[in-house]
Amino acid sequence: MTARQSPLYTRYMAAFNEWTTHVTGCSCRAEAPCEVGAPLFERFSRLQEAWNNHLTQHRR
Ligand SMILES: [Zn+2]
Repeated sequence: MTARQSPLYTRYMAAFNEWTTHVTGCSCRAEAPCEVGAPLFERFSRLQEAWNNHLTQHRR
């Protein structure tokens, strides 16, 4: 199984893209996201954690 076939990875990448698109057009950062950016960053963080857990579980 490769990473790209995982629906979780797809959602993680979608959240990552939304967040990076936002920070590109906004002056906020991950350390201090604005009102619009905060939920995007939160979602990205959650999915990143879930994805990292997924990798940990499937390693070896
Ligand atoms: Zn922002």
